[in-house]
Parts: sequence; C-alpha cells; structure tokens
Amino acid sequence: HNLKQFMLNKKKVILLGATGSIGTSTCKVLRSFPENFKLVGISAHSKSKKLLEIAEEFNVKNLAITSNKEYLKAKSSILVNSEIKYFGGSLALEELIACTDADLVVVATLGSYALMATLNAIEKGMDIALANKELLVLGGDFITKSIKKHNVRLLPIDSEHNAVFQCIQGYNIKELKSISLTASGGACRNFAIESLGSVTPSQAQNHPNWSMGTKITIDSATMANKGLELIEAKWLFGLKPEQLKVIIHPESKIHSFVEWIDGSILAQLSPPDMTFAIQHCLFYPQRKNNPKPSINFNEAINLTFHPPDLKRYPCLEIAYEVLKMESFASVIYNASNEIAVQRFIKNEIKFTDIPKVIINALEIINPSKDSTLKALIELDMLTREHALKSKIT
Ligand code: NDP
Ligand code: MG
Repeated sequence: HNLKQFMLNKKKVILLGATGSIGTSTCKVLRSFPENFKLVGISAHSKSKKLLEIAEEFNVKNLAITSNKEYLKAKSSILVNSEIKYFGGSLALEELIACTDADLVVVATLGSYALMATLNAIEKGMDIALANKELLVLGGDFITKSIKKHNVRLLPIDSEHNAVFQCIQGYNIKELKSISLTASGGACRNFAIESLGSVTPSQAQNHPNWSMGTKITIDSATMANKGLELIEAKWLFGLKPEQLKVIIHPESKIHSFVEWIDGSILAQLSPPDMTFAIQHCLFYPQRKNNPKPSINFNEAINLTFHPPDLKRYPCLEIAYEVLKMESFASVIYNASNEIAVQRFIKNEIKFTDIPKVIINALEIINPSKDSTLKALIELDMLTREHALKSKIT
C-alpha cells in the first residue's frame, strides 16, 4: 500500500524530443530525482535505439517515433515486449498524448511538429514545460489562450525566459518597464564582420558557452535565436515590442534581467547549463537541492555587457521589425530562417545569406488576412516551399 501511495505522489512526465539536447538534459534531471518523477511517455524522430535505451532505463511504456521509416524498422524489436504502447508516423505525438495520463509535458522537439500535440495536452489539463520556442512563434496566440482557458501552467525552459519568469514572481507585470534578454553573441562573435561571408557550418556550430542542438547553435551565431526569443517573450509575458530588449553578455551567467518602473533591476544567474532551468520547471513552484554546484563567487568573475551591433546581426534587426507586425510576419520569419539554416548546412548558401532568405520571404510572400491556426500552418508550409527555392543575389 505504501509503495502504491508513493507512486501516486510522483509527478508523471511526458518528454517530447527525448533524444535531443534538451531531452538528454531533462533525463539527467529526472535521473537525479527518481522519487519525485515518473517518466510515462517519450518521443524521438529517428533515433529509435536511443529512445529504446531511455525507455528501458526509466521503464517507460508509451513511446512515439515520428519518422515512419524508423518506426517500422524499430517496431519488430519492440513487439517482444507487449506491455509497451508504440506510436509511429506523423500523428504519433498526438496519439502519445491521447493515450498517456500525465501531469506535465516537456516539449523539446524541433520546429513546429509538436504544435497540435501540445494543444491537445493543454486541453487534457497537462502543464507544459516549453523549450521549443518555435511553437510559440507559430501558435503563440492559440497556445496562450488555451493555457488560460484550461487553467494549466506554461513554464518556460528557454534559459532567458526562465530567468524572466523567475524574476517576475510575486509582482504585477503591469509595473514592468522592460525585459532584457541576454545573448552570448554566438560562435562568430569575434570574427571580423567582413569575414562572415566565409563562415563554414562547422565554425557556426562551435558555440562558446552552451552545448545545444545544431539548429539553435547556428541561430545563436546569426542571433535569429534571439529574434525568435523576442517573439517568444512577447507571447509568454504579454509585452509590447518597445519593452523587449537584447543585450550581449558574453559570459552567459546572467540569463536575463527585468526592469521595474521604480528603476529596480532584477536578474537571474546560474551556470550555462540547461539542467538548472529544466529542474526549476519540473519542480515549480517548489525548489529542490540541485546536485550540481552553481556559480562560485569565491573565484574572480567578470560580467560584461554591451548592446548588439545590428550590422553584425541583421537577423536580430529583422526580428525587431517583425515584432511590430502581425503574427503572420513571425511565422514567415521562423519558417524561412529554418530553411535558410538547412541550406547553409548543406553549403547551398553562405552564412550571410541567411538573413537575405528571410528578407526575401517577408517581401515576396503575401499572406491571407485569415489568422486562424489552419491559415498560419499553411503560411508556414508556403514559406518553407518558397525559401527552399529563393534565389539570393
Ligand atoms: P535537438 O536537435 O538536439 O533535438 C530535437 C528533438 O526533436 C530530438 O528528440 C529529435 O528526434 C526530435 N525531432 C526532430 N525532428 C522531428 C520531427 N520532424 N518531429 C518530431 N520530433 C522531431 O534540439 P534541441 O534539444 O537543441 O532543441 C529542441 C528545442 O528546444 C528547439 O525548439 C530549441 O530551440 C529549444 N531550445 C534548446 C536549447 C538547448 O540548449 N539545446 C535551449 C533553449 C531552447 P531525433 O533525435 O530522433 O532526431
Ligand atoms: Mg535561449
């Protein structure tokens, strides 16, 4: 009976994107707190072997593989264990959510693939811990409205937004003057501006402070990541474009700060390691001892700041414009950037062509005035098709 009671008190967690960088960091946190959490559902796109290893370690019974090919390949090895429910293909995330009972879903997938699954999880009353910022960029209006309607929590894992979230606890957001998202400046921050045209994909993937997935690391080098984070912040905290700022902080120790109307500035600090933000979200509103040490002030530490040079980071400048426009501009910004990054990785375009692909898409694509979710998803697809072929001069 005690064991049953003990199991009932554990927070049940679904982890979408379990095999990625955030997924791996989430598993690290879950491993440190086996008495507090039970992992009940996980997903991957193609890394089925890694997914099965996670399933075995955490004894997870509900699995999803979104690549149909990988799903069929891995299925035979799973049938041996009939206890496991196994979902595959393009609707696998939605099926996983529908069939799994959980308290909280960590959304750590790429792109916008988990949008419907996340909306379904909110409708089922699950709290959301969100790493996947692209989801808010595409469906921010729908996600935030549904969060309110179903009275669940939307907890930001993205380190900057997690910092802001921590700094505003207990205060009235109406008294907030501005928020400043900190940025490391990315892999090419010390390169001469004139040399950026010849940056290679491997150079752009060499982040000075954080270890992350490929796409977000390249987005950090162009600062399109910070652009997406400005849009993410708009939805999460309901702020106006003029309240949203970006500041370069090369040490990545202050993850963001907020300024109140009385002039006080509050910041959140922790090492550049995503497990800190993930642990915060998993336990919220509680706090628990972290097995890892935090910043050690017994050593001399320099914290430096400077405003971003928009000539070096045109993707950031475009994002400021996009912020002032309607939702469809954010959708075009995000989708064209994602395709531009893929083309850059394949050596089809130069590093400095990434902002050109985005500008081209924003100039040429004429979105319908319809702002339903269906219309935004169609616009996302249309932009991708356009950006795949757009000629850059
Ligand atoms: P990764 O590329 O490391 O992992 C992505 C995960 O999504 C993997 O599990 C991958 O599966 C899965 N995936 C890939 N394609 C699809 C698809 N078509 N459908 C469903 N799932 C898919 O990314 P990150 O962990 O770096 O980033 C995840 C999200 O978190 C992004 O939105 C990113 O912006 C955000 N984020 C990441 C941070 C970081 O430190 N990494 C920091 C803040 C935010 P498989 O492994 O099988 O390919
Ligand atoms: Mg971030």
